[in-house]
Amino acid sequence: MRERTALALFVALLAAAPLALPEFYVTLLNYIGLATLVSVGLVLLTGVAGVMSFGQQVFAGLAAYSTAVLTTRYGISPWITLAAGLALTAAVALFLGAITLRLSGHFLPLSTIAWGIAVYFLFGNMELLGKHTGIADIPPISLFGWRLDTGREICVLIWVLTLAALVAARNLLDSRAGRAIRALRFRSVMAESFGVNTAALKNLVFLYAALLAGLSGWLYAHFLRFVSPGAFNVNAGIDYLFMAVVGGAGQVWGAVIGASLLTVLREWLKDILPKLVGFSGNYEIVVFGVLMIMLLHRTRDGLAPALARLAIAAKVRASPSPAPSLEKRRQPQPGETLLEARAARKQFGGLVAVRDLSFETQSGEILGLIGPNGAGKSTMFNLITGVLGSDGGEIRFRGERIDRFPPSEIARRGICRTFQHVNLISAMSVIENVAIGAHLRGRRGTLDAMLRSDRAEEAQLLYEAALQLERVGLAEHLHETAGSLPLAQQRLVEIARALSADPILLLLDEPAAGLRYGEKKVLAELLRRLRAEGMSILLVEHDMEFVMGLVDRLVVMDFGEKLAQGLPREIQADPAVVEAYLGGIE
Ligand code: ADP
Ligand code: MG
Repeated sequence: MRERTALALFVALLAAAPLALPEFYVTLLNYIGLATLVSVGLVLLTGVAGVMSFGQQVFAGLAAYSTAVLTTRYGISPWITLAAGLALTAAVALFLGAITLRLSGHFLPLSTIAWGIAVYFLFGNMELLGKHTGIADIPPISLFGWRLDTGREICVLIWVLTLAALVAARNLLDSRAGRAIRALRFRSVMAESFGVNTAALKNLVFLYAALLAGLSGWLYAHFLRFVSPGAFNVNAGIDYLFMAVVGGAGQVWGAVIGASLLTVLREWLKDILPKLVGFSGNYEIVVFGVLMIMLLHRTRDGLAPALARLAIAAKVRASPSPAPSLEKRRQPQPGETLLEARAARKQFGGLVAVRDLSFETQSGEILGLIGPNGAGKSTMFNLITGVLGSDGGEIRFRGERIDRFPPSEIARRGICRTFQHVNLISAMSVIENVAIGAHLRGRRGTLDAMLRSDRAEEAQLLYEAALQLERVGLAEHLHETAGSLPLAQQRLVEIARALSADPILLLLDEPAAGLRYGEKKVLAELLRRLRAEGMSILLVEHDMEFVMGLVDRLVVMDFGEKLAQGLPREIQADPAVVEAYLGGIE
């Protein structure tokens, strides 16, 4: 079944539901929609971007209380209070995001619990908000004169908005911005190296998830016509996270599955548990916990991927069709000095990993930076690419000092890199991985992606990625997941990704590491071909044999210092190098 068919079927069933179902089920459907809205935000925030939040109920509560107060006390129209509530939600989300998103590890989820508790007490203790009794008599929403004052009527609005949120989230993930979001969780250094502002993007996703929760809170207030703090306590936040995880935190449609499952289960357990244990209480939480643990033992990725495997036959995708090519940089004249390191220095505590190293690279050449393990090559590489801050000296690129720039600014100037430890998003297709390289060559953002007004540019980006994959000999593998390729091909994907940035200088960190003899030959052939096409390459490598027949010039490092530099045959004859390096191998 194709996704479109599934979606159409789902929408048809939904459209019939409010007409056909008994009141009780319509109410349930409303709760599912409201929970789905929050969960979609969590799918993006937690499942995809890797930011765990137990505090989404806060945003729902802010919008719910805003509309409750403003409509009941001041008689303001719910549509205006929606705007006000979302504005308040956004302000709080931006503030909380600014102070908490930088926290790492378990501190971030803990802080979301902390603000959840704080806001719950605020709701429960403020006179204006009706303290623990809450606010009643909230008016219904009117839509073009139609009062949505029954569950059946508001069901339509809830589900139109929920479906829109689902489709928008799905569109978002399948776009330039979405690829960057998918890199946030495990690959943020890589994303930065291709020009993504990861901190800003994280804040944006956080804001978007908060707004969806706010929308849900507003609908909730006008559906129940009543708000009280109990609906926005920390339990609710945990439930939302459950829903996202059970459905499959990386899958947009998982939000519906998780929200449905948990909402229905909760109602059912509320019914059945008191009969089973003989007295009432919130025991469904206990059952939830147990079920959750069992489920996660069986399927880490939640239910959505498992269901998808059952329902959807493997998609066969063709190569992207030709699109107008992206704008290209003007390449420098052959022989122009590109990169200049002058007395570059980096210390880790007492260890000087790079000791006042100086060298230059010229346009059109392959310069090899070689040295034994631990010589400081990767550290120098990280200084050039801005991953590490330097402790002295200067690094210039085409005359401009770049050693104070963040990685994204360095990428913007045309220095593009591969990683010593392959840095691909394994679950993402090869072509999408490569398209991340072209991030800075596109402009369309999250809103364009959600509304699909990015399609022309998206076609250009994907076509560029396909061309670069063809260039490195991987045209056959566009739609495989990157993680399924053997190491040698993953390294080629890394090169294709760097190439799709339209680099001026290509930086390769040990591209031959872990490759077999035949694979190294293929790689060397590719690098020769790139040079013949005018590409400038700085090749960091410890494999002498690999570099000797390939590079134009060599800089040899040992213990952070420059030991020698010159043509390959000069280096091979240099006694100091033979002593420190070649001698060690033979
Ligand atoms: P190479 O890439 O030439 O093998 P590296 O640049 O990775 O060498 O490492 C150079 C030296 O710096 C090594 O002694 C290594 O242990 C040390 N080093 C590298 N990165 C760090 C770090 N983040 N913290 C402390 N020491 C480091
Ligand atoms: Mg290294």
